[in-house]
Amino acid sequence: MRYDAVIIGGGPSGASAAIALASQGRAVAIVERSAFPRNKVCGEFISPVNLALLDRLGVGERVRALAGPEIRRLALFAAGPSIEARMPRSQTDAFGRALGRDVLDLLLLEAAAAAGATLLQPWQATAAVRDGDDMAVSIERSGERRTLLAPVLIVAHGSWEAGGLSSQPRRPHLPSDFLGFKAHFRGSALPSDLMPLLAFPGGYGGMVWADQGRMSLSCCIRRDRLDAVRAAQRGLPAGEAVFRHITAACPSVAEVLRDTTLDGGWLAAGPIRPGIRDCYAHDIFSVGNVAGESHPIIAEGISMALQSGWLLASELAGVAEWSRAGRELAGQRYAAAWHKQFPLRILTASVLAGLATRPLTAGLMHRFVSVFPASLFVGARLSGKVTPVPGIG
Ligand SMILES: Cc1cc2nc3c(=O)[nH]c(=O)nc-3n(C[C@H](O)[C@H](O)[C@H](O)COP(=O)(O)OP(=O)(O)OC[C@H]3O[C@@H](n4cnc5c(N)ncnc54)[C@H](O)[C@@H]3O)c2cc1C
Repeated sequence: MRYDAVIIGGGPSGASAAIALASQGRAVAIVERSAFPRNKVCGEFISPVNLALLDRLGVGERVRALAGPEIRRLALFAAGPSIEARMPRSQTDAFGRALGRDVLDLLLLEAAAAAGATLLQPWQATAAVRDGDDMAVSIERSGERRTLLAPVLIVAHGSWEAGGLSSQPRRPHLPSDFLGFKAHFRGSALPSDLMPLLAFPGGYGGMVWADQGRMSLSCCIRRDRLDAVRAAQRGLPAGEAVFRHITAACPSVAEVLRDTTLDGGWLAAGPIRPGIRDCYAHDIFSVGNVAGESHPIIAEGISMALQSGWLLASELAGVAEWSRAGRELAGQRYAAAWHKQFPLRILTASVLAGLATRPLTAGLMHRFVSVFPASLFVGARLSGKVTPVPGIG
């Protein structure tokens, strides 16, 4: 089967690229390993600037109808009393909102299919090799095998797992790795318009009301701290042990979660891989976490995924022939656009994560924010929450 583009991964980055390319009239195949709806380790907050992009992707109305309340305030929940500040709003006066990844990712993938993309799900991409001017992508499902051919290959498979593709290398485990956890709660006393940043020894996290009366709590914790926490709370599953660690360190978290019930179980993922990688290398385009990833302390991964998929599709649209020369030109332009849009937020997130996870610097951060609460607002702006997306009015 031959297409103009094959996209590996049906998360927000792959779906956004697929919708945009299929809407240009390109023949697109999108390969997704999991059956949807599926849950995912993610805080589920979507920055306000993405609402206009989601409109262009054809799902804005549904997202507005289904997402949780507008998030108008930020807070820091750490060892001391909680500190609050206002949240920046976008140029169109919108505030960010959260939507469960089970809902958001399904909406986006359905929109890709409605735009004309061929959905191969659940199929796993296991290898990709250049074959003349085409990329030959091997896909598998319960013993069945197929090969997809296309001049353009886009990898959108996220960054947290190893696999058979050259873009999914196996890496050694390090004590400094960050592992992600997430759960939904019901009955929380967290004010509906407030999104607190959590800072606790060895990690950071966030809480926000999402859809269907679910409040998501997500966090990252260093592997060495997780090992210590689990050793101290022998017999408890990892998610539960991390939860106890957080509530012991952050009194405001314990307070708003006092009478809650867990909705489903704890999910774990990682290690996460913050950093900047290649946007285009070896004639393969990368979007979302594959191209680059910020520490989730700034809750910008969905933004970067949606926006990078859109940026790549826009640059590919500017190239009539997807020959080798055309792909290289689009790759250079996409890399330039990516590097204008995202590095500041990756740097901001890395600095904040460094401060929040060490008790000494977390204490200093808490003192600073209590004197200058507006620094939370500034941090949210630096993290790209209201940075316009090129090409979106
Ligand atoms: C604790 C935590 C909290 C977070 N909170 C937020 C938040 O509040 N807001 C925010 O914006 N971001 C948040 N993020 C970041 C966000 O979840 C990610 O950045 C985002 O999901 C990246 O999207 P993606 O499309 O690149 O990859 P993914 O969403 O990971 O999607 C990749 C898809 O590819 C599929 N796949 C993988 N391998 C293959 C293969 N070989 N073949 C076929 N399919 C494959 C997977 O099944 C998956 O569906 C958080 C992250 C963590 C760890």
